[in-house]
Amino acid sequence: MADIIDGKAIAADVTAKVKIVADTLLEKTGIQTGLAVVIVGEDPASQVYVANKGRTAKACGFHSVEHKLPEDTSEQALVDIVENLNNDPAIHGILVQLPLPKHIDAGRIIQTIEPEKDVDGFHFINVGKLGTGEIDTAFVPCTPAGSMLLIERVLGKDLSGKTAVVVGRSNIVGKPMFNLLLAANATVTIAHSRTLNLEALCKTADILIAAVGRPQMIKGDWVKPGAVLIDVGINRIDAPEKGEGKTRLVGDADFDSCQAVARAITPVPGGVGPMTIAMLMANAVTSAYRSAGEEAPSF
Ligand code: NAP
Repeated sequence: MADIIDGKAIAADVTAKVKIVADTLLEKTGIQTGLAVVIVGEDPASQVYVANKGRTAKACGFHSVEHKLPEDTSEQALVDIVENLNNDPAIHGILVQLPLPKHIDAGRIIQTIEPEKDVDGFHFINVGKLGTGEIDTAFVPCTPAGSMLLIERVLGKDLSGKTAVVVGRSNIVGKPMFNLLLAANATVTIAHSRTLNLEALCKTADILIAAVGRPQMIKGDWVKPGAVLIDVGINRIDAPEKGEGKTRLVGDADFDSCQAVARAITPVPGGVGPMTIAMLMANAVTSAYRSAGEEAPSF
């Protein structure tokens, strides 16, 4: 039976360290880490994420700012808010919660954020730095960065000689995950909806990343015995066993059958999910250190 990788506990370790280094910076330089989160509209899942981010930022001792804007906010009004935050020296990290309403060009908004404050790591400059191996000065997207920390806890930092398969090629998860695994010396393959023989490919992986958005798609007999399985998926499915109309969260891997084969596996919930917010806090305090000209801590 695979060990369960406790993302909740590891995320708590990261945020505890963030608080210590944020307090140290404040004592040494008078600079309090500032994180601004901007949300447009009423999407319930996004509201929950933003509330969690604000709560965690305060727990880390940050100056935490939230801009909650109505659904009909214009693109230009949002650009103006982001530019104000770019120019505000008390703010070191800016996150615009996605998805944005359809009338707003999310790409334009992301590219408006100063790369030095782009703690989501989605600006072209940060994407380019990650792609060219300039990781020390980049901001790495939070979900893949958190997934790497979970892998490190099992296999260490150097993945030389390991094969990794990433299922999913999104800009937010799959592609940055590919680059991070490559930078750690793994031999990496990225798969997607047009990949043939996905099951056989997954079975070659010492490290298997599921970032597909399809509930319980990856089964135990797709997993190489002894593999490390990181399940990024968050899917809500019906759970009639809990009562009429009830639902539950599951990942992109079928947990029970995969746990029987893998060496280590992340649960859903409680695996990658908590790491995403923790790494956002790590990116924000890193930005504050960089702006102060101090050496940024590693997490
Ligand atoms: P996405 O943008 O929808 O990308 C999904 C990827 O999966 C695409 O590359 C797609 O291929 C591929 N795919 C879809 N069906 C497939 C199939 N049958 N076989 C092989 N590949 C297939 O999703 P995402 O934003 O990367 O998110 C992936 C999952 O992670 C979702 O469940 C999401 O909720 C979750 N997530 C979790 C966190 C967290 O904090 N834990 C953060 C972000 C996302 P094509 O490119 O060919 O279409």
